[in-house]
Amino acid sequence: MDVLRSEKVAFVDLLAQREALGSAIDDAIARVLAHGQFIMGPEVQELERRLAERAEVAHVVACSSGTDALLLPLLAWGVGPGDAVFVPSFTFTATAEVVALLGATPVYCDVLSDTFNLSPASLEAAIDKVVASSALQPRAVIPVDLFGQPADYREILAIAESAGLKVLADGAQSFGATLAGRPVGGLATATSTSFFPAKPLGCYGDGGAVFTDDDHLTEAMRSLRVHGSGSSKYETTRVGLNARLDTLQAAILLAKVDIFDRELERRAEVAARYTDSLGEHLMTPVVRGDRTSTWAQYTVQSRARDRLAASLRQHGIPTAIYYPRPLHQQPAFSGGLLAPGGCPTAEKLCDSVLSVPIHPYLRDVEQDRVIAAILSALRTTGPWPGVL
Ligand SMILES: *Cc1c(COP(=O)(O)O)cnc(C)c1O
Repeated sequence: MDVLRSEKVAFVDLLAQREALGSAIDDAIARVLAHGQFIMGPEVQELERRLAERAEVAHVVACSSGTDALLLPLLAWGVGPGDAVFVPSFTFTATAEVVALLGATPVYCDVLSDTFNLSPASLEAAIDKVVASSALQPRAVIPVDLFGQPADYREILAIAESAGLKVLADGAQSFGATLAGRPVGGLATATSTSFFPAKPLGCYGDGGAVFTDDDHLTEAMRSLRVHGSGSSKYETTRVGLNARLDTLQAAILLAKVDIFDRELERRAEVAARYTDSLGEHLMTPVVRGDRTSTWAQYTVQSRARDRLAASLRQHGIPTAIYYPRPLHQQPAFSGGLLAPGGCPTAEKLCDSVLSVPIHPYLRDVEQDRVIAAILSALRTTGPWPGVL
C-alpha cells in the first residue's frame, strides 16, 4: 500500500461521528421538533444535569458559546474598568476578548514551554507589577487548558488566593480531561467550556457551559443568561445578555455525551501512536504525569514549521496553526499590560507550532499516512534544527 497517496485526510470528521451515532441525533432532533420547546426546553436542564454529574460539580449553566461562558462569570463578578485580569498570551482570542469587552485590562502572561499553559511564575510577577503600580485592581485570572491539558491549578489557585483573585478556567478545549484524578469543571472557582463543532464535545452550531460549585454565582449567571431577569420575566435586575443554549443543540449534545468517553479513549490512542512514532524525530506534545488531556489538538513544534506544513499539504494532510500570533501582539488588544520579562515562550511557540489531524475516527491507515508524511518531510528537509 502506498501510504503517501494523495487522498485527503480529514482534520476533524463529523460525518464519521454521525455514522457512529446511528439514528441517535435524528431521533433527538425529532423529539425536539415534536415537543416544540425550542427555547430552554427540557433537554437543556437534562444536559446541565448530565454534565454536572460528569464533572462532579454542583451546577452547570448551559449557554450560547464558549465565549459567553467566559463572559457570564466575569459579568456576575462585576469585572469592569479599573480591574486587571491575567490571561496567558498563547491562547484563542476569546480569552482576552471578554476582558477587553468589559472594559477591564488584560494582563498578558507567558506560558510554559512543555504544556503551553499559563506559567505560574509569570503570573506571580505580573500580579506584583500590577500591585506595585496601584493603578489597577487585580481581580481575576483565566488559565487556559490549551489543546485539552489542564493548567497547573494547584499552583495557580494558591497564587490567586493570596492575591485575592477569582480563578475562571477556560476549559473550552479540555472538558473531559482530569488533573490528579479530578475532572475539569471543578478545578477552579468557575470553568467555562465550548461546544463549537470542532471541540472534543461539540454540537451542530454554537454552544457552551459554565461549571461551578458556587450557588450565588450560579443564580447570577442564570439571570444574566436571560437578559438579567429577576423573579419574573419582565423584571430586570442585572444588565445581561441573550446567552441561552438552544434546546436543539442540547438534544444533540445529549446524544454525543453517550459516546464521549469512547471518543476520548480513541483520541488518546491516536496521540500515543503519534508520539511513539514521531517522538524521536521532532518535538511532540507533553502531558504531565498527574493529568490527562482530551487531545483537542495534537501539536508538534518545529523551527521549520512552514516547510513541514507545505510538505504535509502536498501529501493531502491538512494542518493548522494554533496560534500564529500571541495575544499581546494583536492590534485590538494593545491596551493590555505585559508581564515582567514579556512573553518570550508564547512568541516562540507562535513561530513553531503545527497541529496535525487528530479525531476519534482517524483510521490506522490514516494515522500511518500522517506519520509517514511527517517522516518523509523530515528526510527531505534534513534533520530538524526543530527542537526549541
Ligand atoms: C473555542 C475557544 C473559545 C471560544 O469558544 P466559542 O464557543 O467559539 O465561543 C474560548 N477559548 C478557547 C481556548 C477556545 O479554544
